[in-house]
Formats: sequence, structure tokens, C-alpha cells
Amino acid sequence: MHGPVALVTGGAGFIGSHLCEYLLKQGYFVVAMDNLLTGDVQNIAHLYNQPFLFIHHDVTNYIYVDRPVAFVYHLASPASPKDYQVYPIQTLKVGALGTHKALGLALRHRARFLLASTSEVYGDPRVHPQAEDYWGNVNPIGPRGVYDEAKRFAEALTMAYHRVHGIDTKIARIFNTFGPRMRMDDGRAVPTFIVQALRGEPLTVYGDGSQTRSFCYISDMVEGLYRLMMSDYHLPVNLGNPQEMTVLELAELILRLTGSRSRIEFRPLPQDDPRVRQPDITRARSILGWEPRVPLEEGLKETIADFRRRLGLG
Ligand code: NAD
Ligand code: UDP
Repeated sequence: MHGPVALVTGGAGFIGSHLCEYLLKQGYFVVAMDNLLTGDVQNIAHLYNQPFLFIHHDVTNYIYVDRPVAFVYHLASPASPKDYQVYPIQTLKVGALGTHKALGLALRHRARFLLASTSEVYGDPRVHPQAEDYWGNVNPIGPRGVYDEAKRFAEALTMAYHRVHGIDTKIARIFNTFGPRMRMDDGRAVPTFIVQALRGEPLTVYGDGSQTRSFCYISDMVEGLYRLMMSDYHLPVNLGNPQEMTVLELAELILRLTGSRSRIEFRPLPQDDPRVRQPDITRARSILGWEPRVPLEEGLKETIADFRRRLGLG
């Protein structure tokens, strides 16, 4: 016997695979669906002996699941700036067509639905920190537009399904999240700096490193996603760690925690790179009773240990 069925699209990815693990621990039967565009079956291989099913499928095509689905966590999408610039059309398609198919499945099964949206809907924000009622500052035709606009469309479609069909929908605006299992070459700051530090290569800080981000550890994020799914709230909720730092501070912290003697090397700032980013999590605190618990240094230590293992450094 097992509990209700939860479908996780993007289940072979970084956040998706941790969410699958968490849901299995809560007693769910978990169906992970993924086309492995940026994910890896290695992330979920250890789950095959549990009430778990992997379906290799591109969610921009009609989705069929041969059992009653009670919850749909829709995470499928390239997520790092490098990935969505390598796959711009796939990113637009999965945000638009993929979200349509995932909502269609939720409608058919009368399942609860959660969209993994992003802080990128705020673009290069003119309001700081970012609260959910800020509409954002996005360049639709810039290199990041494929991701930002796909997620903005996905949010609009989710609200339309809620209003028209009465689907019980949730929208999580996820801010920068990190942890074990991130792809080493996904180009994001945390894995890039850790790999560079462990290999003794220069850390590539873009611009002068004064742009800010706020990094949330994966276990906190997964719990936030679960609490949001279980809530009765339909409007967007920011999930992230409000502890803000500059990218240069992040690089220096990773040098210290790895004990690396790598240098820092400055490279040109990519176009439309947001200057600042920090979640206002007042809504998550009051509605979900949620806030991050894992301190940044502790999360980074876990992540560094995972990268050491995967790089064969003991
Ligand atoms: P990831 O790349 O590790 O995982 C995404 C997964 O989606 C991958 O396994 C990929 O193969 C799969 N996928 C992509 N297109 C697909 C398609 N058409 N059909 C089926 N599967 C498809 O990225 P992640 O960091 O785990 O991000 C997960 C979700 O969270 C994404 O929707 C992302 O936009 C969102 N998010 C992540 C962050 C973060 O900091 N990690 C921040 C904001 C939002
Ligand atoms: N960044 C950097 N060096 C790198 C990778 C990223 O300085 O090798 C910067 C990037 O320009 C951005 C910040 O780190 O300002 C976070 O980048 P990431 O790709 O992790 O996520 P983003 O928040 O931009 O989506």
C-alpha cells in the first residue's frame, strides 16, 4: 500500500530529484517525468527500489499517467542562464506548451497543481527587496527573455486554469537555490565557483562582483514547495533565503570554505544580469509558517563535500 500519487515534472533535475526524495519520505507514490534535457537519471537512480516510477517524456507533448494523480509539481524547464541560452526554444516551449499539458493533466485528474516559477519574473528589479506584488522589469527580447517570459506566461496560464476551471493551483517564485547534485557545468555561480576552487583554477567573477543574490539551501526549498502545495493559497509566493550578498563575497566565502588558493578573475558582466536580488518572504512566513533554516555556510559545506566526492577528491 502507498499514499497518493504525486507527479514531478523535471523530476530528474536538481530540485526535482530532491523533491522526489522528500515526497517518498512523506509516503507518496512518486512519478518523475523528464526528457533529460538538463537532468540526469543518476539523480534518481537510488529511488528505483521505492514506490517510484520514472517516465522518460517531453512534457511539451500530451502527458499520460496510467494511475490517479493527486498532486502535480511542475518543475520541468532549463533553469540556469547557460542552459536556457543553449536551449532558448525548448525553454519557451516547456514554459508555454509544457505548462499547458501539465495543467491539462491536473484538470483531467482534478489534481492540485504547483508551478515552479522564478525570481526572474522580476527581471532586473527596480524594487528591492522583491515582494510578490511587484510586476517586474523584464527585457522580453534579451538573452534572458526566453526564460523570464516563459515563466511569466506559465504564471498567467496557471491563474487562468484556476479562474476558469477551478483547479487548485499554487505558484512558487523560487529564488537562487543550491545544494548537492547541481550539475558541475551548469554555469551557475555556486557550482562554477566550487569546481574552480577545488581544481585550483581562477574563480570567474562577472562584472566587478557587486551584483547581489540570496542563496537558499535545497532542503529548505523543498520543504517550502511542499508547504505551499498543502496550503489553500493561490497567488504567487516567494521562496528563497533573504540573506543577500554580493557575488564577490560569495566567491571569497567559497575560497575560504574550500581552503583553496585560487585567484579571483574578473570577466565581463553578461547582458541583462540583474543588479540585485533578494526575496521579501513576509508572505511565505505568514501563510506557510516557512522560512529557511539552514545557514548559508552549512549548506555550502554540504555542497562542497558532494562536489569533492563527485570529483573523486575524497
Ligand atoms: P534542472 O535543469 O536541474 O532541472 C530541470 C529538469 O527539467 C531537468 O531534469 C530537465 O531535463 C527537465 N526538462 C526540461 N525540459 C523538459 C521537457 N520539455 N520535458 C520534460 N522534462 C524537461 O533545474 P532546477 O534547478 O532543478 O530547476 C527546477 C525548476 O525550478 C525549474 O522550473 C526552474 O525554472 C525552477 N527554478 C530553479 C531555481 C534554482 O535556483 N535552481 C530558481 C528559480 C526557479
Ligand atoms: N556569476 C559569476 N561568475 C560565474 C557565474 C555566475 O560572477 O562564473 C554571476 C552572474 O553574473 C550573476 C550571479 O553570479 O550575477 C548569479 O548567477 P547564476 O548563474 O548563479 O544565477 P542568476 O541569479 O543570474 O540566474
